[in-house]
Amino acid sequence: MLDPETRTLFLETTHKFVNEVLIPAEAEVSETDQIPADIVKQMQDLGLFGLSIPEEFGGLGLSMSDEVEVAMILGQASPAFRSLAGTNIGIGSQAIIFGGSDAQRAKYLPDMASGVLIGSFALTEPDVGSDAASVKTSARKTEGGYILNGTKRFITNAPEAGLFTVMARTGEPGAKGVSCFLVEAGSTGLSVGPWDKKMGQRGAHTADVILQDSFVPDDALLGGQEGTGFTAAMRTLDKGRLHISAICAGAARRLLDEALRYANERQQFGKPIAEFQLVQAMLAESQTELYAAECMIRDAARRRDAGENAGTLASCCKLYASEMVGRVADRAVQIFGGAGYMAEYPIERFYRDVRLFRLYEGTSEIQKIIIAKSMLRNLDS
Ligand SMILES: Cc1cc2nc3c(=O)[nH]c(=O)nc-3n(C[C@H](O)[C@H](O)[C@H](O)COP(=O)(O)OP(=O)(O)OC[C@H]3O[C@@H](n4cnc5c(N)ncnc54)[C@H](O)[C@@H]3O)c2cc1C
Repeated sequence: MLDPETRTLFLETTHKFVNEVLIPAEAEVSETDQIPADIVKQMQDLGLFGLSIPEEFGGLGLSMSDEVEVAMILGQASPAFRSLAGTNIGIGSQAIIFGGSDAQRAKYLPDMASGVLIGSFALTEPDVGSDAASVKTSARKTEGGYILNGTKRFITNAPEAGLFTVMARTGEPGAKGVSCFLVEAGSTGLSVGPWDKKMGQRGAHTADVILQDSFVPDDALLGGQEGTGFTAAMRTLDKGRLHISAICAGAARRLLDEALRYANERQQFGKPIAEFQLVQAMLAESQTELYAAECMIRDAARRRDAGENAGTLASCCKLYASEMVGRVADRAVQIFGGAGYMAEYPIERFYRDVRLFRLYEGTSEIQKIIIAKSMLRNLDS
């Protein structure tokens, strides 16, 4: 938890870093599909990999309220930068923080906080997507450990990861039979497939993770307990969804800033296009929706920090913010006109980049199902 003075300073430093280092490097990252090593080093030095990791393990231990503020700033740069640190901040580390044994926390969290170790979260499989409880990857008990077999699909940072949080089945069909394993890169039988060719977010990588008779020792089982994998995954995603929502708000802020500046500069019919009320409507609608998303995200984060179960609120935020940024990106393309379709301007890249937010960490349809189920549960009780 940061004191108010350090918090202000950290947010200002992150803002400066985004504007002076990340945004100027966006085109290069998109072209090379790689984040330059010196930028990764600066991200590590700033503490970006350890935002949510407790201070006792070398992280910044930010509250959710502070984390979403940082994410709203980071989101203003190409999502590829955030993606590299994102698994350590969210889905790659959270299961260890709340479900790991003391030994597992001490072993992995300090290197994750510094960014030396990249964590990856491996839930999705070729036949297992939204229906996450139907995990097919198997974990068979053997002398001193488990043998894992299966394929994990679209795994963010798999090519860079030193540690994979793998959901695998140890028991009965359904959620209760899923366990969570901490599998180190280099484990026997673990391999990473070629990088996926994606629609956007170049510089961020996903790949298959293949487990073929991969042996992991007993102490790789999260918290030493079988059957807790699905709960660990869902708790991890609850928090991750607030973080992603804040990234969406950051991206919308950037798109809107770019669109506003362009509308003010671009002249047609003898005046800036910003003077046309049909263009103003697009700006105003975007500003209104962005403000709504920011308010929701801050409220949900504050309530989570206060101890409220904010899982459904996180789904509301993820649903609204990811759809909102899609609409803002679409209007930004419209305001830029033909230039919005050209790769020379960042709008075209962001338009493709933000499409992902409606898909991963639960699609929009899955968020709606979670929200409605919670409403119906509350009706019963
Ligand atoms: C770039 C990228 C990075 C990713 N990173 C990771 C990662 O690090 N780790 C990881 O484990 N996974 C990761 N994923 C996987 C991602 O979480 C899944 O793609 C996502 O959950 C959707 O699963 P699916 O692709 O199998 O789609 P499906 O589940 O097959 O869904 C297809 C369509 O059907 C809809 N649908 C499915 N079920 C229902 C229902 N009950 N009611 C209504 N509609 C429904 C969906 O909303 C969607 O529109 C990543 C994906 C991408 C694209």
